[in-house]
Amino acid sequence: MSDPRSEQLHRRAEAVLPGGVNSPVRAFRAVGGHPVFIESARGARLVGADGREYIDFVGSWGPAILGHAEPTVVAAVQQAATRGLSFGAPTEGEVLLAEKLIELFPSIEMVRCVSSGTEATMSALRAARGATGRPLIVKFDGGYHGHSDCLLVQAGSGAATFGTPDSAGVPEEIVRSSRSLPYNDVPALEDLFAREGAHIAAVIVEPVAGNMGCVPPEPGFLEGIVRLCDAAGAVAIFDEVMTGCRLARGGAQERYGVTPHLTCLGKIVGGGMPLAAYGGRRDIMERVAPLGPVYQAGTLSGNPLAVAAALATLEQLRPELYERLETLGARLEAGLREALAGARVDGCVQRVGSMITLFFRPGPVRNWADAAGSDRERFARWHAGLLERGVYWPPSQFEAAFLSAALGEEDIDRTIAAAADALRSS
Ligand SMILES: *Cc1c(COP(=O)(O)O)cnc(C)c1O
Repeated sequence: MSDPRSEQLHRRAEAVLPGGVNSPVRAFRAVGGHPVFIESARGARLVGADGREYIDFVGSWGPAILGHAEPTVVAAVQQAATRGLSFGAPTEGEVLLAEKLIELFPSIEMVRCVSSGTEATMSALRAARGATGRPLIVKFDGGYHGHSDCLLVQAGSGAATFGTPDSAGVPEEIVRSSRSLPYNDVPALEDLFAREGAHIAAVIVEPVAGNMGCVPPEPGFLEGIVRLCDAAGAVAIFDEVMTGCRLARGGAQERYGVTPHLTCLGKIVGGGMPLAAYGGRRDIMERVAPLGPVYQAGTLSGNPLAVAAALATLEQLRPELYERLETLGARLEAGLREALAGARVDGCVQRVGSMITLFFRPGPVRNWADAAGSDRERFARWHAGLLERGVYWPPSQFEAAFLSAALGEEDIDRTIAAAADALRSS
């Protein structure tokens, strides 16, 4: 696609930023070509550096559930900015936000705000290890929980049980205390608990996986995690950084009716600003400093601008919003299925609420091994076809697309038409 201005900016960026970006997936390496530099965004539309408009299905990788530049959120941030940008002292807004999160997520009795999802998961694990006095962390292949050392095992590749680091710079010794198992595999988890249960501090899971494409939990999977943790005295952590406030107001735990011990939040709860949180059972959260011995701190934690955006966003998450997202999601899902059939392409569409993935392989995709079998080259061609037709889809087969409430039915229909066209010509 020709977007000379973005291409030019990306070349300049590559000289001064690794890959020309501040977060790797933005570089479009999985699909090739240059990323679109964004000039502005409003509602469901992004405007690229050359002035072209795109229908957005990335939503800043999750936060933008209301659409971009939602007027009341923007006004709240502007208001807050006039009162000062950061104090490093407590504010009323933080209390309101904590109370709101506890209202939305009944499993959360106490909560701590941080500035990114990575910090939330890293800190939740430290709290779990501190509370149990045990070393081992269990995650699932293809599950991404941020970039902290002990979670960079099988965060989107391979399928071994024993931890090998997914990144250079992560010492073997650190991932030796991590285990990674296939998603949706309760017997594998039972096995692991039978062998090492006395040493397991926590099991962390994306309750609907979104970082290997959208992969829903099978009946009994989430329940099995909580049951096994309960029995062994380990901590069940739902990483709802992506799913929290997206799949329901109270996240996947509300949607599936399963109660974890700790929850990690981010993305939507920050309303587009750098804010995330972890919280849960009081006896565990009381281990966190200054109440307890588990140290965790942040200069900009609970930043007043971020808190203002968070409160203004959470305020607008009414049940009708989720009904609307469900309707729009179902329309897109059906349209994409039809487009696949029409183009005679082997693929499947997986969706939970407003998270959706078209995998270029026959379904169902139950875990990372399945997802990894997708035809990524075909995905890359389809992605380029969508971009040419004004649809901004996540630039990787392994990232879920997100719908926002700012989308209209005509946007969905235009997207389906573009998707069908791109399938036929790629
Ligand atoms: C995005 C994400 C994270 C990391 O959040 P950052 O704010 O990017 O650090 C952690 N867990 C899940 C499930 C995520 O989707």
